[in-house]
Amino acid sequence: MSIQQQISLKPYNTFGLDVKAKYFVEVTDEHQLIEVLKSDIAVNNELFILGGGSNLLLTKDVDALVIKMSIKAVQVLEDFEEEVLLAGGAGEEWHEFVMKSLELNCFGLENLSLIPGCVGASPMQNIGAYGVEIKDRFEYLEALNLKTLKIEKFDNAACEFGYRESVFKRKLKGQYIITKVVFRLSKSPKLNTSYGAIEVELKNQGISNPTPKDVSNAVIAIRQSKLPDPKEIGNSGSFFKNPVVTLSVLNKIKSNYPDVVAYEVDKQNFKLAAGWLIENAGWKGKTIGTYGVHKKQALVLVNYGGALGKDIYKLSADIIASVEEKYGVKLEREVNIY
Ligand code: FAD
Ligand code: NAP
Repeated sequence: MSIQQQISLKPYNTFGLDVKAKYFVEVTDEHQLIEVLKSDIAVNNELFILGGGSNLLLTKDVDALVIKMSIKAVQVLEDFEEEVLLAGGAGEEWHEFVMKSLELNCFGLENLSLIPGCVGASPMQNIGAYGVEIKDRFEYLEALNLKTLKIEKFDNAACEFGYRESVFKRKLKGQYIITKVVFRLSKSPKLNTSYGAIEVELKNQGISNPTPKDVSNAVIAIRQSKLPDPKEIGNSGSFFKNPVVTLSVLNKIKSNYPDVVAYEVDKQNFKLAAGWLIENAGWKGKTIGTYGVHKKQALVLVNYGGALGKDIYKLSADIIASVEEKYGVKLEREVNIY
Protein backbone atom coordinates (compact mmCIF):
# COMPACT_ATOMS: atom_id res chain seq x y z
CA MET A 1 0.00 0.00 0.00
CA SER A 2 1.64 3.24 -1.13
CA ILE A 3 0.21 6.71 -1.59
CA GLN A 4 0.68 7.81 -5.20
CA GLN A 5 0.60 11.34 -6.60
CA GLN A 6 -1.09 12.95 -9.61
CA ILE A 7 -3.03 9.84 -10.63
CA SER A 8 -5.59 10.01 -13.44
CA LEU A 9 -9.04 9.04 -12.19
CA LYS A 10 -10.26 8.14 -15.69
CA PRO A 11 -10.30 4.38 -15.00
CA TYR A 12 -12.00 4.99 -11.64
CA ASN A 13 -15.18 6.84 -12.68
CA THR A 14 -17.88 5.47 -14.98
CA PHE A 15 -18.29 8.83 -16.75
CA GLY A 16 -14.69 8.25 -17.89
CA LEU A 17 -13.68 11.80 -16.97
CA ASP A 18 -9.96 12.42 -17.12
CA VAL A 19 -9.19 14.40 -13.96
CA LYS A 20 -6.25 13.94 -11.62
CA ALA A 21 -6.13 13.05 -7.96
CA LYS A 22 -3.51 14.95 -5.96
CA TYR A 23 -2.94 11.77 -3.90
CA PHE A 24 -4.36 8.28 -4.43
CA VAL A 25 -4.27 5.11 -2.37
CA GLU A 26 -6.11 1.78 -2.57
CA VAL A 27 -6.89 -0.02 0.69
CA THR A 28 -7.74 -3.70 1.01
CA ASP A 29 -8.40 -4.03 4.76
CA GLU A 30 -9.41 -1.96 7.77
CA HIS A 31 -5.92 -2.05 9.27
CA GLN A 32 -4.47 -0.46 6.09
CA LEU A 33 -7.27 2.10 6.09
CA ILE A 34 -6.43 3.21 9.62
CA GLU A 35 -2.70 3.36 8.79
CA VAL A 36 -3.48 5.59 5.80
CA LEU A 37 -5.71 7.85 7.88
CA LYS A 38 -2.91 8.33 10.42
CA SER A 39 -0.42 9.37 7.70
CA ASP A 40 0.72 13.00 7.35
CA ILE A 41 -0.81 13.18 3.88
CA ALA A 42 -4.23 12.17 5.24
CA VAL A 43 -3.99 14.52 8.19
CA ASN A 44 -2.97 17.48 6.01
CA ASN A 45 -5.34 16.98 3.09
CA GLU A 46 -9.02 16.57 2.40
CA LEU A 47 -10.21 13.00 1.98
CA PHE A 48 -12.23 11.70 -0.93
CA ILE A 49 -13.69 8.20 -0.53
CA LEU A 50 -14.09 6.26 -3.77
CA GLY A 51 -16.01 3.09 -4.49
CA GLY A 52 -16.71 2.18 -8.11
CA GLY A 53 -17.04 5.84 -9.16
CA SER A 54 -20.48 5.17 -10.68
CA ASN A 55 -22.37 7.95 -8.93
CA LEU A 56 -19.93 10.78 -9.49
CA LEU A 57 -19.43 13.73 -11.79
CA LEU A 58 -15.88 15.02 -11.49
CA THR A 59 -15.81 18.59 -12.76
CA LYS A 60 -12.19 19.35 -11.80
CA ASP A 61 -8.98 17.78 -10.50
CA VAL A 62 -9.47 16.28 -7.05
CA ASP A 63 -7.38 18.28 -4.60
CA ALA A 64 -7.49 15.57 -1.93
CA LEU A 65 -6.26 12.15 -0.88
CA VAL A 66 -8.49 9.75 -2.81
CA ILE A 67 -9.00 6.50 -0.88
CA LYS A 68 -10.17 3.73 -3.20
CA MET A 69 -12.09 1.21 -1.08
CA SER A 70 -11.10 -2.34 -2.06
CA ILE A 71 -11.94 -4.17 1.17
CA LYS A 72 -13.30 -7.51 -0.08
CA ALA A 73 -15.15 -10.27 1.79
CA VAL A 74 -18.51 -12.01 1.59
CA GLN A 75 -19.44 -13.75 4.81
CA VAL A 76 -22.47 -15.48 6.32
CA LEU A 77 -22.56 -13.98 9.81
CA GLU A 78 -25.67 -15.73 11.17
CA ASP A 79 -27.65 -18.65 9.77
CA PHE A 80 -31.16 -18.64 11.28
CA GLU A 81 -34.01 -21.02 10.48
CA GLU A 82 -35.59 -18.75 7.86
CA GLU A 83 -33.07 -15.98 7.31
CA VAL A 84 -29.36 -15.34 6.89
CA LEU A 85 -27.24 -12.33 7.79
CA LEU A 86 -24.89 -11.82 4.86
CA ALA A 87 -22.02 -9.32 5.08
CA GLY A 88 -20.15 -7.66 2.24
CA GLY A 89 -16.88 -5.74 2.48
CA ALA A 90 -17.10 -2.15 1.26
CA GLY A 91 -14.97 -2.87 -1.81
CA GLU A 92 -16.99 -5.85 -3.06
CA GLU A 93 -18.58 -5.12 -6.42
CA TRP A 94 -22.32 -4.79 -5.83
CA HIS A 95 -23.43 -7.00 -8.71
CA GLU A 96 -20.91 -9.74 -7.77
CA PHE A 97 -22.27 -9.58 -4.21
CA VAL A 98 -25.86 -10.02 -5.47
CA MET A 99 -24.78 -12.99 -7.63
CA LYS A 100 -22.96 -14.54 -4.65
CA SER A 101 -26.07 -14.11 -2.46
CA LEU A 102 -28.13 -16.04 -5.04
CA GLU A 103 -25.50 -18.80 -5.24
CA LEU A 104 -25.76 -19.12 -1.45
CA ASN A 105 -29.59 -19.33 -1.74
CA CYS A 106 -29.96 -16.07 0.17
CA PHE A 107 -32.80 -14.17 -1.45
CA GLY A 108 -34.02 -10.58 -1.53
CA LEU A 109 -31.44 -8.65 -3.55
CA GLU A 110 -32.37 -10.06 -6.99
CA ASN A 111 -34.20 -6.89 -8.13
CA LEU A 112 -30.98 -4.96 -7.53
CA SER A 113 -28.93 -6.98 -10.02
CA LEU A 114 -26.50 -5.20 -12.34
CA ILE A 115 -26.34 -1.92 -10.41
CA PRO A 116 -22.72 -0.75 -10.79
CA GLY A 117 -20.55 0.29 -7.86
CA CYS A 118 -19.48 -1.23 -4.58
CA VAL A 119 -21.23 -2.60 -1.49
CA GLY A 120 -19.80 0.22 0.69
CA ALA A 121 -21.57 2.91 -1.34
CA SER A 122 -24.91 1.10 -1.47
CA PRO A 123 -26.24 2.69 1.74
CA MET A 124 -25.05 6.17 0.74
CA GLN A 125 -28.11 6.76 -1.43
CA ASN A 126 -30.08 3.66 -0.36
CA ILE A 127 -29.75 2.21 -3.85
CA GLY A 128 -32.99 1.07 -5.37
CA ALA A 129 -34.46 -0.39 -8.52
CA TYR A 130 -37.54 -2.25 -9.69
CA GLY A 131 -39.49 -1.76 -6.49
CA VAL A 132 -36.77 -2.68 -3.97
CA GLU A 133 -34.38 -0.48 -1.98
CA ILE A 134 -31.54 -1.75 0.17
CA LYS A 135 -33.28 -0.41 3.28
CA ASP A 136 -35.82 -3.23 2.77
CA ARG A 137 -33.07 -5.87 3.23
CA PHE A 138 -30.61 -3.98 5.43
CA GLU A 139 -29.54 -5.15 8.92
CA TYR A 140 -26.63 -2.88 9.89
CA LEU A 141 -23.41 -1.40 8.62
CA GLU A 142 -20.01 -0.71 10.11
CA ALA A 143 -18.29 2.60 9.49
CA LEU A 144 -15.06 4.15 10.62
CA ASN A 145 -15.48 7.42 12.47
CA LEU A 146 -12.92 9.77 10.93
CA LYS A 147 -12.45 11.70 14.18
CA THR A 148 -11.96 8.77 16.57
CA LEU A 149 -10.73 6.17 14.02
CA LYS A 150 -13.07 3.69 15.75
CA ILE A 151 -15.60 1.46 14.01
CA GLU A 152 -19.25 2.25 14.81
CA LYS A 153 -22.40 0.28 13.98
CA PHE A 154 -25.45 1.87 12.33
CA ASP A 155 -28.77 0.04 12.27
CA ASN A 156 -31.58 0.78 9.82
CA ALA A 157 -33.06 3.64 11.86
CA ALA A 158 -29.64 5.26 12.43
CA CYS A 159 -29.01 5.36 8.66
CA GLU A 160 -32.13 7.54 8.19
CA PHE A 161 -32.77 6.03 4.76
CA GLY A 162 -35.03 7.86 2.34
CA TYR A 163 -35.59 7.92 -1.41
CA ARG A 164 -31.99 7.89 -2.74
CA GLU A 165 -30.95 9.33 0.62
CA SER A 166 -29.26 8.45 3.89
CA VAL A 167 -27.75 10.19 6.88
CA PHE A 168 -24.33 9.77 5.21
CA LYS A 169 -25.35 12.07 2.34
CA ARG A 170 -26.76 14.65 4.75
CA LYS A 171 -25.99 15.18 8.46
CA LEU A 172 -22.96 12.89 8.62
CA LYS A 173 -21.54 13.75 5.19
CA GLY A 174 -17.75 13.32 5.16
CA GLN A 175 -17.60 12.02 8.74
CA TYR A 176 -17.54 8.23 8.22
CA ILE A 177 -16.09 5.61 5.90
CA ILE A 178 -18.37 2.60 5.47
CA THR A 179 -16.32 -0.60 5.76
CA LYS A 180 -18.95 -3.37 5.82
CA VAL A 181 -22.66 -3.75 5.11
CA VAL A 182 -24.84 -6.56 6.49
CA PHE A 183 -28.12 -7.69 4.89
CA ARG A 184 -30.93 -9.84 6.31
CA LEU A 185 -31.85 -12.18 3.48
CA SER A 186 -34.46 -14.89 3.22
CA LYS A 187 -33.82 -18.61 2.72
CA SER A 188 -37.14 -18.95 0.89
CA PRO A 189 -37.93 -16.77 -2.13
CA LYS A 190 -40.26 -13.81 -1.51
CA LEU A 191 -40.36 -12.28 -4.95
CA ASN A 192 -41.28 -8.72 -5.79
CA THR A 193 -42.37 -8.70 -9.42
CA SER A 194 -44.89 -5.88 -9.02
CA TYR A 195 -42.81 -3.55 -11.20
CA GLY A 196 -44.48 -3.72 -14.63
CA ALA A 197 -41.32 -4.22 -16.70
CA ILE A 198 -40.34 -7.36 -14.75
CA GLU A 199 -43.73 -8.96 -15.32
CA VAL A 200 -43.55 -8.19 -19.04
CA GLU A 201 -40.00 -9.56 -19.36
CA LEU A 202 -40.85 -12.79 -17.51
CA LYS A 203 -43.91 -13.23 -19.72
CA ASN A 204 -41.82 -12.65 -22.85
CA GLN A 205 -39.40 -15.32 -21.65
CA GLY A 206 -42.35 -17.71 -21.06
CA ILE A 207 -41.71 -17.94 -17.30
CA SER A 208 -44.88 -18.20 -15.20
CA ASN A 209 -43.41 -19.48 -11.93
CA PRO A 210 -40.17 -17.51 -11.55
CA THR A 211 -37.27 -18.26 -9.21
CA PRO A 212 -35.14 -15.43 -7.73
CA LYS A 213 -32.53 -16.21 -10.40
CA ASP A 214 -35.22 -15.76 -13.09
CA VAL A 215 -36.09 -12.34 -11.62
CA SER A 216 -32.41 -11.41 -11.53
CA ASN A 217 -32.01 -12.49 -15.17
CA ALA A 218 -35.12 -10.51 -16.15
CA VAL A 219 -33.77 -7.37 -14.44
CA ILE A 220 -30.40 -7.86 -16.17
CA ALA A 221 -32.10 -8.24 -19.57
CA ILE A 222 -34.23 -5.11 -19.08
CA ARG A 223 -31.27 -3.06 -17.90
CA GLN A 224 -29.05 -4.20 -20.76
CA SER A 225 -31.76 -3.25 -23.27
CA LYS A 226 -32.27 0.29 -21.89
CA LEU A 227 -29.16 1.54 -20.15
CA PRO A 228 -25.80 2.44 -21.65
CA ASP A 229 -22.96 0.18 -20.46
CA PRO A 230 -20.37 2.51 -18.88
CA LYS A 231 -17.63 0.38 -20.46
CA GLU A 232 -18.91 1.59 -23.83
CA ILE A 233 -20.49 4.99 -23.12
CA GLY A 234 -19.51 7.02 -20.05
CA ASN A 235 -22.40 7.71 -17.67
CA SER A 236 -23.43 7.65 -14.02
CA GLY A 237 -26.92 6.19 -14.37
CA SER A 238 -29.87 8.44 -13.57
CA PHE A 239 -28.50 11.94 -13.26
CA PHE A 240 -31.62 13.33 -11.53
CA LYS A 241 -33.99 12.09 -8.84
CA ASN A 242 -37.68 11.64 -9.50
CA PRO A 243 -39.31 14.69 -7.86
CA VAL A 244 -42.10 14.15 -5.35
CA VAL A 245 -44.92 16.71 -5.61
CA THR A 246 -48.25 17.29 -3.90
CA LEU A 247 -51.57 16.28 -5.45
CA SER A 248 -52.40 19.91 -6.27
CA VAL A 249 -49.08 20.40 -8.12
CA LEU A 250 -49.67 17.14 -9.99
CA ASN A 251 -53.17 18.23 -11.00
CA LYS A 252 -51.84 21.56 -12.23
CA ILE A 253 -49.22 19.79 -14.41
CA LYS A 254 -51.86 17.32 -15.62
CA SER A 255 -54.10 20.13 -16.80
CA ASN A 256 -51.39 21.08 -19.34
CA TYR A 257 -49.79 17.65 -19.80
CA PRO A 258 -52.42 14.92 -19.30
CA ASP A 259 -49.85 12.17 -20.16
CA VAL A 260 -47.45 13.04 -17.33
CA VAL A 261 -46.19 9.85 -15.63
CA ALA A 262 -46.75 9.84 -11.86
CA TYR A 263 -46.83 7.21 -9.09
CA GLU A 264 -48.61 7.57 -5.77
CA VAL A 265 -46.32 7.85 -2.74
CA ASP A 266 -49.26 8.45 -0.38
CA LYS A 267 -52.69 10.05 -0.80
CA GLN A 268 -51.21 13.58 -0.96
CA ASN A 269 -47.82 13.02 -2.61
CA PHE A 270 -46.86 11.73 -6.04
CA LYS A 271 -43.52 10.78 -7.61
CA LEU A 272 -43.12 12.19 -11.11
CA ALA A 273 -40.99 10.24 -13.60
CA ALA A 274 -38.16 12.73 -14.18
CA GLY A 275 -37.28 10.86 -17.38
CA TRP A 276 -40.70 11.71 -18.80
CA LEU A 277 -40.43 15.41 -17.82
CA ILE A 278 -37.02 15.69 -19.50
CA GLU A 279 -38.02 13.74 -22.60
CA ASN A 280 -41.23 15.73 -23.02
CA ALA A 281 -39.18 18.92 -22.76
CA GLY A 282 -37.30 17.79 -25.86
CA TRP A 283 -33.96 16.72 -24.38
CA LYS A 284 -33.90 12.98 -25.11
CA GLY A 285 -31.04 12.08 -27.46
CA LYS A 286 -29.74 15.66 -27.61
CA THR A 287 -26.00 15.61 -28.36
CA ILE A 288 -23.58 18.49 -27.88
CA GLY A 289 -20.29 17.39 -29.44
CA THR A 290 -18.86 14.73 -27.15
CA TYR A 291 -21.66 14.55 -24.57
CA GLY A 292 -25.40 14.67 -24.27
CA VAL A 293 -28.63 13.01 -23.14
CA HIS A 294 -28.90 9.27 -23.78
CA LYS A 295 -31.09 8.39 -26.75
CA LYS A 296 -32.98 5.60 -24.94
CA GLN A 297 -33.32 7.13 -21.46
CA ALA A 298 -33.54 10.90 -20.90
CA LEU A 299 -32.54 10.58 -17.23
CA VAL A 300 -29.04 9.48 -18.20
CA LEU A 301 -26.40 12.00 -19.29
CA VAL A 302 -23.56 10.54 -21.32
CA ASN A 303 -19.94 11.16 -22.24
CA TYR A 304 -19.22 9.84 -25.72
CA GLY A 305 -15.50 10.36 -25.07
CA GLY A 306 -13.34 13.33 -24.17
CA ALA A 307 -16.07 15.48 -22.58
CA LEU A 308 -15.33 17.64 -19.56
CA GLY A 309 -17.24 17.23 -16.29
CA LYS A 310 -17.97 20.95 -16.19
CA ASP A 311 -19.70 20.74 -19.59
CA ILE A 312 -21.88 17.86 -18.43
CA TYR A 313 -22.65 19.85 -15.27
CA LYS A 314 -23.70 22.83 -17.41
CA LEU A 315 -25.95 20.52 -19.48
CA SER A 316 -27.57 19.31 -16.24
CA ALA A 317 -28.15 22.93 -15.19
CA ASP A 318 -29.77 23.70 -18.55
CA ILE A 319 -32.07 20.68 -18.17
CA ILE A 320 -33.05 21.72 -14.64
CA ALA A 321 -33.88 25.26 -15.84
CA SER A 322 -35.85 23.99 -18.84
CA VAL A 323 -37.91 21.52 -16.76
CA GLU A 324 -38.62 24.17 -14.13
CA GLU A 325 -39.77 26.64 -16.76
CA LYS A 326 -42.05 24.09 -18.44
CA TYR A 327 -43.64 22.36 -15.43
CA GLY A 328 -42.75 24.52 -12.40
CA VAL A 329 -40.85 21.59 -10.85
CA LYS A 330 -37.21 21.81 -9.83
CA LEU A 331 -35.18 18.65 -10.48
CA GLU A 332 -32.49 17.63 -8.00
CA ARG A 333 -29.28 15.96 -9.10
CA GLU A 334 -28.83 12.42 -7.83
CA VAL A 335 -25.18 12.15 -8.89
CA ASN A 336 -22.53 13.44 -6.46
CA ILE A 337 -20.75 16.47 -7.91
CA TYR A 338 -17.10 17.29 -7.18
P1 FAD B 1 -19.01 6.09 -5.87
O1 FAD B 1 -19.53 6.71 -7.11
O2 FAD B 1 -17.60 5.68 -5.84
O3 FAD B 1 -19.32 7.05 -4.65
C1 FAD B 1 -20.58 7.62 -4.47
C2 FAD B 1 -20.56 8.48 -3.20
O4 FAD B 1 -20.41 7.64 -2.06
C3 FAD B 1 -19.39 9.44 -3.14
O5 FAD B 1 -19.82 10.60 -2.46
C4 FAD B 1 -18.33 8.71 -2.32
O6 FAD B 1 -17.45 9.58 -1.66
C5 FAD B 1 -19.21 7.94 -1.35
N1 FAD B 1 -18.65 6.64 -0.93
C6 FAD B 1 -18.35 5.59 -1.75
N2 FAD B 1 -17.95 4.54 -1.01
C7 FAD B 1 -17.98 4.94 0.29
C8 FAD B 1 -17.67 4.31 1.53
N3 FAD B 1 -17.23 3.04 1.59
N4 FAD B 1 -17.82 5.02 2.67
C9 FAD B 1 -18.26 6.31 2.64
N5 FAD B 1 -18.55 6.96 1.50
C10 FAD B 1 -18.44 6.29 0.34
N6 FAD B 1 -28.22 3.65 -8.46
C11 FAD B 1 -29.39 3.17 -7.93
O7 FAD B 1 -29.73 3.50 -6.78
N7 FAD B 1 -30.20 2.35 -8.64
C12 FAD B 1 -29.89 1.95 -9.88
O8 FAD B 1 -30.64 1.19 -10.48
C13 FAD B 1 -28.69 2.43 -10.48
N8 FAD B 1 -28.36 2.11 -11.75
C14 FAD B 1 -27.23 2.61 -12.31
C15 FAD B 1 -26.92 2.27 -13.63
C16 FAD B 1 -25.77 2.75 -14.24
C17 FAD B 1 -25.45 2.36 -15.66
C18 FAD B 1 -24.89 3.56 -13.49
C19 FAD B 1 -23.59 4.03 -14.11
C20 FAD B 1 -25.17 3.91 -12.19
C21 FAD B 1 -26.37 3.45 -11.58
N9 FAD B 1 -26.72 3.80 -10.27
C22 FAD B 1 -27.86 3.30 -9.71
C23 FAD B 1 -25.86 4.71 -9.49
C24 FAD B 1 -24.69 4.00 -8.75
O9 FAD B 1 -24.36 2.79 -9.38
C25 FAD B 1 -25.02 3.70 -7.29
O10 FAD B 1 -25.34 4.88 -6.60
C26 FAD B 1 -23.84 3.02 -6.57
O11 FAD B 1 -24.22 2.62 -5.27
C27 FAD B 1 -22.59 3.90 -6.46
O12 FAD B 1 -21.56 3.09 -5.95
P2 FAD B 1 -20.05 3.42 -6.17
O13 FAD B 1 -19.25 2.42 -5.40
O14 FAD B 1 -19.74 3.52 -7.60
O15 FAD B 1 -19.96 4.85 -5.48
P1 NAP C 1 -38.85 2.99 -15.91
O1 NAP C 1 -39.19 1.55 -15.73
O2 NAP C 1 -38.82 3.57 -17.28
O3 NAP C 1 -39.80 3.87 -14.98
C1 NAP C 1 -39.68 5.28 -14.96
C2 NAP C 1 -39.82 5.77 -13.54
O4 NAP C 1 -41.09 5.45 -13.06
C3 NAP C 1 -38.80 5.11 -12.64
O5 NAP C 1 -37.91 6.09 -12.28
C4 NAP C 1 -39.60 4.53 -11.49
O6 NAP C 1 -39.29 5.13 -10.24
C5 NAP C 1 -41.04 4.86 -11.79
N1 NAP C 1 -41.83 3.61 -11.79
C6 NAP C 1 -42.01 2.75 -12.81
N2 NAP C 1 -42.84 1.75 -12.45
C7 NAP C 1 -43.15 1.97 -11.16
C8 NAP C 1 -43.98 1.30 -10.23
N3 NAP C 1 -44.62 0.17 -10.54
N4 NAP C 1 -44.08 1.82 -8.99
C9 NAP C 1 -43.43 2.94 -8.66
N5 NAP C 1 -42.64 3.62 -9.50
C10 NAP C 1 -42.51 3.16 -10.73
O7 NAP C 1 -37.43 3.27 -15.23
P2 NAP C 1 -35.97 2.96 -15.72
O8 NAP C 1 -35.28 4.24 -15.93
O9 NAP C 1 -35.97 1.93 -16.80
O10 NAP C 1 -35.35 2.32 -14.43
C11 NAP C 1 -35.80 1.09 -13.94
C12 NAP C 1 -35.46 0.97 -12.47
O11 NAP C 1 -34.04 0.99 -12.30
C13 NAP C 1 -36.01 2.12 -11.61
O12 NAP C 1 -36.38 1.60 -10.35
C14 NAP C 1 -34.85 3.05 -11.49
O13 NAP C 1 -34.87 3.79 -10.28
C15 NAP C 1 -33.66 2.11 -11.51
N6 NAP C 1 -32.49 2.77 -12.12
C16 NAP C 1 -31.83 3.68 -11.37
C17 NAP C 1 -30.72 4.32 -11.88
C18 NAP C 1 -29.94 5.28 -11.02
O14 NAP C 1 -28.85 5.65 -11.41
N7 NAP C 1 -30.45 5.68 -9.89
C19 NAP C 1 -30.29 4.06 -13.17
C20 NAP C 1 -31.04 3.15 -13.92
C21 NAP C 1 -32.13 2.51 -13.39
P3 NAP C 1 -38.08 4.61 -9.28
O15 NAP C 1 -36.86 5.16 -9.92
O16 NAP C 1 -38.41 5.27 -7.99
O17 NAP C 1 -38.12 3.12 -9.23
